[in-house]
Amino acid sequence: MPKSPSGEHSIIRNYLDWIVHLPWERTTEDRLDLDEAARILDAGHHGLAKIKDRLLEFLAVIKLRRSLKGPLLCLVGPPGVGKTSLGKSVAEALGRKFLRISLGGVRDEAEIRGHRRTYIGAMPGRFIQGLRKADSANPVILLDELDKVGGDSRGDPAAALLEALDPQQNKTFTDHYLDLPFDLSRALFIATANWLEPIHPALRDRLEVIELPSYTTREKVEIARKHLVPRQLAEHGLKRSQARIQDAALRGIVEQYTREAGCRQLEREIASLARKAARDIAGRKRGGKVFNVSGARLVKLLGPPKYESETAGRIAQCGIAIGLAWTPVGGEILFIEATRMPGKGGLILTGSLGEIMKESAQTALSYLRSNAEDIGIDATFFEKSDIHVHVPAGATPKDGPSAGVAIVMALTSLLTGCRVRPDLAMTGEISLRGRVLPVGGVKEKLLAAARAGVKRVILPERNRKDWDEAPAEVRDRIDVSFARQISDLSPLAILKK
Ligand code: ADP
Repeated sequence: MPKSPSGEHSIIRNYLDWIVHLPWERTTEDRLDLDEAARILDAGHHGLAKIKDRLLEFLAVIKLRRSLKGPLLCLVGPPGVGKTSLGKSVAEALGRKFLRISLGGVRDEAEIRGHRRTYIGAMPGRFIQGLRKADSANPVILLDELDKVGGDSRGDPAAALLEALDPQQNKTFTDHYLDLPFDLSRALFIATANWLEPIHPALRDRLEVIELPSYTTREKVEIARKHLVPRQLAEHGLKRSQARIQDAALRGIVEQYTREAGCRQLEREIASLARKAARDIAGRKRGGKVFNVSGARLVKLLGPPKYESETAGRIAQCGIAIGLAWTPVGGEILFIEATRMPGKGGLILTGSLGEIMKESAQTALSYLRSNAEDIGIDATFFEKSDIHVHVPAGATPKDGPSAGVAIVMALTSLLTGCRVRPDLAMTGEISLRGRVLPVGGVKEKLLAAARAGVKRVILPERNRKDWDEAPAEVRDRIDVSFARQISDLSPLAILKK
């Protein structure tokens, strides 16, 4: 072909290159042996029995119906709990190629469906790009971070996604760049998300959700011992006989060097130990001892601990209480601080609090004002003072009603001059008439409390069943009390002067 001065030549060449290299009819043959699938899921993942069962049921239905139509499977949970790696195992079990399409930060429809070729630097969208890389028309496609799909003036990516996933329409999925229909219906889609709320309602309707909770310390140590350590040693060219990381060291990493719901940071710290082992062993003139990491050696190898007990020393004064929050990346503990100054009964709220949380604080204050005498607070106090409630870590937005009990205890402590128990965390909504109402996310909140070293927790009476369902390891480590009314809280939470 003669070179065209207009650049038209390279545009056409590029286009043909895409057409020639796409796997239009190249597919892999499905292997659907459920025992083998169970073996693969078990080999790659510790625990998660219920989740593996759900995945096997899902595969069984595909096998019987010989069709991929049906709801879109969505694995929901905090980062690092194994969503991506379960998706990979499903692909392996089916004998299909695996393709991960990250949807985080996709705002433009063209990222899904491509640019028209009249556009300078036009490219196909992520589906077509991924299929070319996977070199198969029927891979397992993991749509990662479905909850992070945004939208702006450049078209709605969620609508384009719906079209790509809709079994009625995706047989003729037409990318703007290719301008030819590609049959996407042969691919198996699995989505992941941290939470469901931000997902477009039409997409959410199609999801079959499998929830993955955070791991406990013991689970993380097991995962590390059985999976992460062997993998990292192998990746660093080490034999099992050359390096050893003791359980005490793994526990030390989980408790003092990471603070997360899943295993990502844990895996990074293990990789860091593996690098040190590799350097030590590669530098030896003659063979030598095993590179052995004990709990006591961690400080030398990884530096001083990154996380000490979070609660220690933080409640040295009156007016501070610990609440528990649910977030899409796992539970968290939340310090509520209250202070007072001369004024006229005003309430100042800071720390990026949402409307509902602000209302909780107002409710808490009104409750205390109307019950001042019973609680032992000087009733004239409110005429002479302003109160300031602050929730540190101001950059993270906080909302929801579940901090109610912690706010009311921080205020009670401030106004009575008695401290809140320093090893106690609490969650619960409050009503103006003094009731304690149930809240959501209790399991994640309890896991976060255990991670942070909290010893006691107060839950609403109506959340008792969530406690019963919490992992035994958490129930062993934490003492629980249940509250029906705000008046139940003080005897449990406030220390005597
Ligand atoms: P996610 O996709 O949920 O963010 P990943 O699948 O990337 O999490 O998991 C992070 C790391 O932790 C991976 O190396 C993964 O293999 C490992 N992992 C997580 N859960 C388990 C488990 N139950 N058993 C074995 N490894 C796990």
